[in-house]
Amino acid sequence: MPVTVILGTQWGDEGKGKAIDTFAGDFDYVARYNGGNNAGHTIVNEYGTFKIHLVPSGIFHPKTKCLIGGGVVIDPATLIEEMNSLRKAGIQLEKRLFISPRSHFIMPYHKILDGLYEEAKGAGATGTTRRGIGPTFADKISYNGIRWYDFTDPEIFSGKLRVQLELKNKIIAALGGSALNFENVREEYLAYYSQIKPFIKELFPIVQNGLKAGKKFLLEQAMGSILDPDWGTYPFVTGSTTLASAATGGLGIPPRAITRIIGVTKAYTTRVGGGPMPTEIKDDAHAEKALSEVAATTGRIRRGGWFDAEVVRFACQINGIDRLFLTKLDILSEFDKIKICTGYEFNGKRVHYHDLDSYQLDKVKPIYKTVQGWEKDIREIRKYKELPARARAYVETVEKLAGVKIGWVANGPEREAVIKKP
Ligand code: GDP
Repeated sequence: MPVTVILGTQWGDEGKGKAIDTFAGDFDYVARYNGGNNAGHTIVNEYGTFKIHLVPSGIFHPKTKCLIGGGVVIDPATLIEEMNSLRKAGIQLEKRLFISPRSHFIMPYHKILDGLYEEAKGAGATGTTRRGIGPTFADKISYNGIRWYDFTDPEIFSGKLRVQLELKNKIIAALGGSALNFENVREEYLAYYSQIKPFIKELFPIVQNGLKAGKKFLLEQAMGSILDPDWGTYPFVTGSTTLASAATGGLGIPPRAITRIIGVTKAYTTRVGGGPMPTEIKDDAHAEKALSEVAATTGRIRRGGWFDAEVVRFACQINGIDRLFLTKLDILSEFDKIKICTGYEFNGKRVHYHDLDSYQLDKVKPIYKTVQGWEKDIREIRKYKELPARARAYVETVEKLAGVKIGWVANGPEREAVIKKP
């Protein structure tokens, strides 16, 4: 499979990091295509437990090279910190990590503006991570961005920074924030550049020559399909396209080179931040607690809900998913009854996810099917047929409702906890 895309089918945090880590050893390159350090993959392997935000999850496989594409926005301080923690764990980065000079920088004013916009929106706030992702993408699209290329000539960088600070300081002051100092920001970013410079490399020849030589690429999404700015629950979405259609653009891979798309799906639903979530549990304290999580990136609480087949079916269709990787089945082991949302009703009519905008989605009535739980610890099981019959029935119900075959079932955070489904 020369080019495989791995993406989340829900609101992010599906366990993509684990899925990618499972497959990455079979690939020559793992490339990150979107987002910024608002995403966080948690990976548990022989090196330890890592929460990585920018470096592709393939970094843990010594023969795999990692690319950060032009569609990613980079907070250099976070990247340096992450690189240092990987080095400390004995992972070699030199000649293995390549960053596109086309990727844009998150500047200090992006983070400040992210926070100020959220505060100005009050109760209607998006619930962003306040890490500057949205404002950085906005600057990229409105021709105001600063990217690695700009550092090749310090005069270009200084000129752009001066203009941006003049603009941004006015907005920051108008919103009650404190202005940034040109010299301080300039020195800080030049220092970051000198540390990251050895890893910056135009990806085009790597990718094109790699494809020609039959090398295998794994393209890694950050966030989830339902956080896409076009097709997600706008405005409660992320700043960059998350769908498979975006996987190739920033990396310079022709779309027709994609041969397989794997969708990572949590066996239930979680969502962090604001926005509609039809299957959110509000009436069952035990279930709510069991399915809520703490976010890898921000420590924020993820709202917990039952599996939403309407959302996953939509994600399978829009991305053209070939196979699903179902995660966290083990978390459902404690339930005697499990609810599955098979579809939505709105104003007494059956509707689909794509029929509605966010504000209508907030008011849909989920149609539930209740199934019996298996109530057994399944974490040590490694063969599909050894799963309790009810756990298999749950997996197969999800598969049927999603309309796409499940190829793998994960039953624990560790690398070994993956069951291949026949
Ligand atoms: P990502 O951004 O999609 O990679 O997801 P996160 O890393 O933010 O969140 C997924 C969390 O679930 C991480 O803590 C993983 O270690 C953990 N995880 C992944 N798969 C499984 C699984 O099958 N069972 C359990 N219990 N945890 C899992």
